[in-house]
Amino acid sequence: MAIVPLFGHAHERERLTTAADAGTLPASLLLCGPRGVGKQRLALWLAQRMLCTASGARPCGVCEACRLNLSVRHPDVYWFYPRPRLKDADASVADALDDYNAATQARVEQYGLYPRPSGSDGIHVVTVRAIVQRASLSPALARRKVFVIGDAERMVSQEGADQAANAFLKLLEEPPADTTLILTSSEPGALLPTIRSRVVPMRVRPLGETDVRAFLADEAVRGELDRAGVPAGEATRVTLAGGAPGTLFTRAAREAARTAAARLLDTVRAAPADRHAAALAQGVAGARGAFSDTLSALVELLRERAADALARGDMARAYAASRAVPAVAQAQARADGNVNPQLVAAALLRTLAEVGA
Ligand SMILES: [Zn+2]
Repeated sequence: MAIVPLFGHAHERERLTTAADAGTLPASLLLCGPRGVGKQRLALWLAQRMLCTASGARPCGVCEACRLNLSVRHPDVYWFYPRPRLKDADASVADALDDYNAATQARVEQYGLYPRPSGSDGIHVVTVRAIVQRASLSPALARRKVFVIGDAERMVSQEGADQAANAFLKLLEEPPADTTLILTSSEPGALLPTIRSRVVPMRVRPLGETDVRAFLADEAVRGELDRAGVPAGEATRVTLAGGAPGTLFTRAAREAARTAAARLLDTVRAAPADRHAAALAQGVAGARGAFSDTLSALVELLRERAADALARGDMARAYAASRAVPAVAQAQARADGNVNPQLVAAALLRTLAEVGA
């Protein structure tokens, strides 16, 4: 199983190719540009090109290294990005690597097409430790190792983790000779200044319409967009994509979160047994990111309801809806703090029923 090819970015590819061939490619690179334009895909393409063993045009797409890279299984290419905090507070580097293996496999099963990470996801200290540790090892198969760190502005600084943070900064500043680090960010201004000053930025531009059309015509892309419930029709999708087709998947995930939030709110006035069932439905394994998105959508919905009620002059409803917002904020904090989503949802639904939301 392979991720979809890289579409467009001819200009960026040429610049990277020229630098790589001249030996002037920075060892710590930052790809920045709007969300959804394919920065992480471009980084994975660069990793593939660097490790391709063909003598002619690279990446060849057929050598063993290329084939491993196309399914994101090359042992010398590491892909990190924001993830939910691991449940175990004492999670080890091995636990973090296991988590990324599973998460990346899930991304590959969706052909490398995924929504933006949930708002509470981060690149946690244990992940930073994993990066530092893996960078110190020799490559397994190739002559180099490449680290792709997506949404790098979500790197979480945490009290008492200075050692890991400092080791990472040292790595960025002076990577081992066989190591390349490629960070990506759509909010480079939000990067820690200590990180920003140690990477060479390169701008990744939105895709032109021809490239967007080519992306949308890909069979795997079409299948995933249909599955995510993105409105059909090429012209509609081209417009919705706006040069950043990755945002289509985020949009679909947001709609799904809003639907889930509305459903949750509907059960507030239902019988306790129905509320209980709704709470249980929030506990699906691995869905903590989804639950967190549902809660964010719930805040949005409640604010909209409060505004609507206010506009209608229905003060009681406006008051109830606005009283519910802090309850959801509290639920968000508990969910981020690793309390079981089912318990959080059950308590939240009880509170919402009490305030009459
Ligand atoms: Zn190759």
